[in-house]
Amino acid sequence: MSAQPAGTYDAIIVGGGHNGLTCAAYLARAGRTVLVLERRHVVGGAAVSEEIHPGFRYTVCSYVVSLLRPSVIRELQLARFGLEITPLECSFTPLPDGRSLCRWPDPARTREEISRFSPRDAEVYPEFGRTMGRLARFVRPIIDDVAVDPTSLDPRDIARILQVGKRFRDLGDDLATLQFKLTTMGGVDFLREWFESDELIAPMSCSGIIGTFLGVNSPTTAYVLLHHYMGEIDGNSRAWGFPKGGTGAVSQAIADAARHFGAEIRTEAPVERILVRGGRATGVVLDNGDELRAKVVVSGCEPRRTFLQMVGAEHLPDDFVTKLRRYKLRGSSGKVNLALDRFPEFSCRPGDGPHVRGDIAIAPSTDYLARAYDEAKYGDFSSRPYLNVVFPSLLDRTMAPPGKHVASIFVQYAPYEIKEGPEHWPDRREAFGDAVIDTLAEYCPTLKDSILHRQVLTPWDLEQEFGLTEGNIFHGELSLDQLLFARPVSGWARYRTPVRDLWLCGSGAHPGGGVMAAPGERAAKTMLQQGAV
Ligand SMILES: Cc1cc2nc3c(=O)[nH]c(=O)nc-3n(C[C@H](O)[C@H](O)[C@H](O)COP(=O)(O)OP(=O)(O)OC[C@H]3O[C@@H](n4cnc5c(N)ncnc54)[C@H](O)[C@@H]3O)c2cc1C
Repeated sequence: MSAQPAGTYDAIIVGGGHNGLTCAAYLARAGRTVLVLERRHVVGGAAVSEEIHPGFRYTVCSYVVSLLRPSVIRELQLARFGLEITPLECSFTPLPDGRSLCRWPDPARTREEISRFSPRDAEVYPEFGRTMGRLARFVRPIIDDVAVDPTSLDPRDIARILQVGKRFRDLGDDLATLQFKLTTMGGVDFLREWFESDELIAPMSCSGIIGTFLGVNSPTTAYVLLHHYMGEIDGNSRAWGFPKGGTGAVSQAIADAARHFGAEIRTEAPVERILVRGGRATGVVLDNGDELRAKVVVSGCEPRRTFLQMVGAEHLPDDFVTKLRRYKLRGSSGKVNLALDRFPEFSCRPGDGPHVRGDIAIAPSTDYLARAYDEAKYGDFSSRPYLNVVFPSLLDRTMAPPGKHVASIFVQYAPYEIKEGPEHWPDRREAFGDAVIDTLAEYCPTLKDSILHRQVLTPWDLEQEFGLTEGNIFHGELSLDQLLFARPVSGWARYRTPVRDLWLCGSGAHPGGGVMAAPGERAAKTMLQQGAV
């Protein structure tokens, strides 16, 4: 299929993040004429791989996948377009006193590791995994469908609510109570009901805080633990994986699929405004003044940016604007990518064996994590932050020249609102980078000597470079009050918006952020089902 002349598209997608691309691919596959407009020189948004230092490829923002929807992989034939995911081999927690904990896919090995800290925890751990797996099976269908709306009187909605209620009842008393606890309790409190060793609880609790401005003891963070058990790779539950080529390769595969189905993708094409006439979206205006028309406009950008910057409050109902202004973004994470001359071994477990071919958590205790949050609460980055480290070059040799390595370091906490004001982040960037390197160097003494290049991304940089408002990595916190029928705003959680013919398809829509392609898929399928395009 060839590209249409300007002005005649069925759909214009604003933003070539992996969700915008997914939406484009589905619409094009259904025979619609589609144009994707991406502001940067490369597609992918926060799922992007770039050669920032010659010969070294960074998976610049996101770095591991698990929730990428199997339906998208299958229906868009992503394997044919180069998608290949290598499962991580270990979750490794080095400790400052020279001990360490590895959790392996092999339950017997994990049991042996945990029993060095607590024989009781080693017994309980497999049962915990099975229980979380059962609860994840209860929740998983929710991310594979449009949001259930408990306020709707539509008979189809009422039927779905009853269905969820029935599935909840079928969980039985114990699991239903646990599900309730998960949605209300703090991660650490919840884990302490199962485990006694802090060395195990601390790294496990971290999945509850990723991308939120909450601490490991904050109520409701337990729920996000469940997301950790919801992923799957090749039908293998819970597995996290590294896409060959970094997460940019996921976006490239989706972009190639979209082009294959006939979509047109333009980079370096920033959208300045979404055109609204008579309450309907009719097209977009680019930064260079070009006007492009379409039957529908679909935004893959963060909702507040979409509505308040690109549409304008004058075209929106007041209560919608009020709710949008309350939508919590408040980014709390940063990223450091390193090009390394050699592999910086961990003193507690030397070598570059399977223990470092997974994710590595610098989370030595729950007190450490609580202190890291305390600093952020009062407007500073953590002097000793939580780090999640992956060495992509150990999982994919093409990421760095032979014998050299790249490190991907996810960092929390780095609050967008530092006390000097977010615009002062550029003055603090290098100090933040130093805090991250100093922290990791306590475990890898040769780290500093092996660094050839470092890229430090503060929340301010995430906003400026990637359009992630307030540096929020998920287009809005994944806290319970902003999920399901309330994402991004109650009453508007099904991709439609108060502006006719304007739809949402990014992480600010149900079911939320992460490299899962679900909002893009669901938005496209909803539009097609409803004959909107
Ligand atoms: C540091 C970091 C680490 C992360 N780690 C992980 C991880 O390991 N695993 C995981 O699953 N998730 C992770 N995430 C989250 C995940 O990457 C995101 O939730 C996801 O990639 C967002 O995809 P999206 O398509 O919804 O939006 P985005 O990727 O944000 O795409 C939106 C696109 O819109 C473009 N855009 C913005 N404004 C305009 C405009 N005016 N005109 C045209 N285009 C515009 C942007 O450039 C961008 O390409 C991480 C995110 C960050 C930032």
